[in-house]
Amino acid sequence: MNIMDKKILASIEIRQGDITQIEVDVIVNAANSSLLGGGGVDGAIHRAAGPELLTECRSIGGCHTGEARITRGYKLPARYVIHTVGPVYSGKPHDSQLLTRCYLNSLKLASDYNLASIAFPAISCGVYRYPINDACKIAIDTTCNFLKAGRSLKKVIFILFSSKNYKTYMDYLKSI
Ligand code: ADP
Repeated sequence: MNIMDKKILASIEIRQGDITQIEVDVIVNAANSSLLGGGGVDGAIHRAAGPELLTECRSIGGCHTGEARITRGYKLPARYVIHTVGPVYSGKPHDSQLLTRCYLNSLKLASDYNLASIAFPAISCGVYRYPINDACKIAIDTTCNFLKAGRSLKKVIFILFSSKNYKTYMDYLKSI
């Protein structure tokens, strides 16, 4: 591993916990295409941010799978929320392309806003049933490739709710 790769890996952090509590410039929401809220991490983010988040989301008018939109964070510790819509897992190759686009478009949007820190949940790995091993590789590989290009982001946190998913991410990061 060269010095640049080490620097990139040092800017990635894996944590176990609740994304609504994390103090970063922007947290990423695993939203659905209506952007009108739902269960899982989406519900938790809307509850913690308060009703103004839903009002702003309503004004956006939806988001296609693989795309991302940004709003303010309202009552969250995070200043902004990026809402991205992951694929419902089908087992087809297109799934990985769409999940890659979720990470890439979220990272690009954070950079466009000149943000330094971002936290991701395991997009699509709940109700949308994406296998955590495959999703973890996409999340970390896409992020490493993006960080190689430089730009504003200095810290990327992957925050996992379950200890099993946390271990999957830690094991993959150590294996790189
Ligand atoms: P999707 O519909 O994209 O699958 P889910 O919200 O069902 O989204 O699940 C995505 C992941 O987020 C799951 O691994 C779930 O355990 C996790 N999760 C749920 N609530 C939180 C939270 N408050 N903070 C971090 N991760 C969460």
